[in-house]
Amino acid sequence: MELIILGSGTGVPSLRRGSPATLLKAENQSILLDSGSGTLQKMLQAGVTYKDVDAVLYSHIHPDHCADLVPLIFACKYQEDPRTKDLLIIGGSRRSPYGQGFRGYFEELRRVHGSWIEPETFRIHIREVVADEAAIGDLQVTTLPLEHAPESVGYRIASPQGRTVVYAGDTDYCPNIVELARGADLLLLECSFPEGRKVQGHLTPSLSGRIAQEAGCKRLVLTHFYPPCDRSDIRGDCQNVFDGEVLLAEDMMRIAI
Ligand SMILES: [Zn+2]
Ligand SMILES: [Zn+2]
Repeated sequence: MELIILGSGTGVPSLRRGSPATLLKAENQSILLDSGSGTLQKMLQAGVTYKDVDAVLYSHIHPDHCADLVPLIFACKYQEDPRTKDLLIIGGSRRSPYGQGFRGYFEELRRVHGSWIEPETFRIHIREVVADEAAIGDLQVTTLPLEHAPESVGYRIASPQGRTVVYAGDTDYCPNIVELARGADLLLLECSFPEGRKVQGHLTPSLSGRIAQEAGCKRLVLTHFYPPCDRSDIRGDCQNVFDGEVLLAEDMMRIAI
């Protein structure tokens, strides 16, 4: 498998870092992990079109992570070259009265955009998850709820050869992310803020490193950097607590798993 970071930033516009989106290319599948603003064009740079992607997995429904969902479906309706294969979209269920699950969110999008996001040449399959197991082609997907938004879930994806990658989206430190990431070949974690500037619901370099260390991951890739991170020794602060390899994501970085 190969992971391609499409956006290593946040909702803050940046010429260096696009909004959160990552592409997982497996032998027979292309899976999009979140789709922040600008994702469709970045996908093209990675050689994957709106017709190719098999599934989109959402960590949660904050705008920086799903802004390009409507543009993706709209593109699939391009009359000259429409998408024909079905699209699977997975998101988290609502776990508190204050939030909304992915299905409810998608129904609202449908209500607002009407026929402009109503597919005619393919079908959209929506699946809501909490602590679940799912198969996408020959990939095995495990999900657990995480600590950020009421619908937040993390994804563990295993290839038939047993290689594993874990994607958390946004999260705070919690036991579930350690469990989900247990022994993973690669853990892709957010690192929103530098050391000493912790914000609730997000991670700092030492907390990200602590998760990877406790989970016994082989490699840790940090992403979702707000601008202050680029003026701080993120790698050093993370390596103080994690013995494995630490990579700092950049847009279009490719990582073999
Ligand atoms: Zn968020
Ligand atoms: Zn975010």
